[in-house]
Amino acid sequence: MSTIFSERLDAVERRIAVACEKAGRERNSVTLLAVSKTKPPEAVREAVDCGLRLFGENKVQETQSKVSMCPAGLEWHLIGHLQSNKAKIAANLFQMVHTVDSLKILQALEKHAHSTLPVLLQVNIAGEAGKYGMKPEEVAGVIEAANTMSKCEVHGLMVIPPFSPDPEKTRIHFSNLRKLRDQLQDETGTPLPELSMGMSHDLEVAIEEGSTWVRIGTDLFGKR
Ligand SMILES: *Cc1c(COP(=O)(O)O)cnc(C)c1O
Repeated sequence: MSTIFSERLDAVERRIAVACEKAGRERNSVTLLAVSKTKPPEAVREAVDCGLRLFGENKVQETQSKVSMCPAGLEWHLIGHLQSNKAKIAANLFQMVHTVDSLKILQALEKHAHSTLPVLLQVNIAGEAGKYGMKPEEVAGVIEAANTMSKCEVHGLMVIPPFSPDPEKTRIHFSNLRKLRDQLQDETGTPLPELSMGMSHDLEVAIEEGSTWVRIGTDLFGKR
């Protein structure tokens, strides 16, 4: 077991615990997704030795080769943009897709999934040009479409906000995603319990604003 990894994990766990405490939330209302993209299978194994089993990856092919070299029984979550021509593989490789950013990709996953596939809808909440994610006004229609599907289940929303080194500047985007979620639940009657938001440098603010999945790479595995 790597001392470095376990120390990094302890530090991240402490930050999550403090943020939950500050927000008056239970620690178990937030799940840590260890973002292992670009890191070798050995790094994943160290993390597994420290008790982690949920890993985030952003590329289909990289995940395929990594899964075969890692212990069985882990969960792999897609956190990168998915192209339709990779949907067939992705639908049966990942246990959850955080980055469904169009109706088209949802339909492609539905077509190919062999069993239930939980997904999150990625929203371009700040309306940034050239960024992946649905417009806020498109999301209700995609949820209605998902409600007629038999494999894909929408569990909530995901955001990659505009980068700012100051996490307080990101708070508004997290809080806007939560408000959109609340509004969509009312509008569609679909429970949307999950909010995937928060990375290494802004996990505290994300948790204060209601995140249920923090996606942590750098602060667990080191610089990429
Ligand atoms: C790489 C990545 C992360 C992890 O970012 P860190 O700053 O390294 O913690 C989280 N979410 C997504 C979508 C990513 O691509």
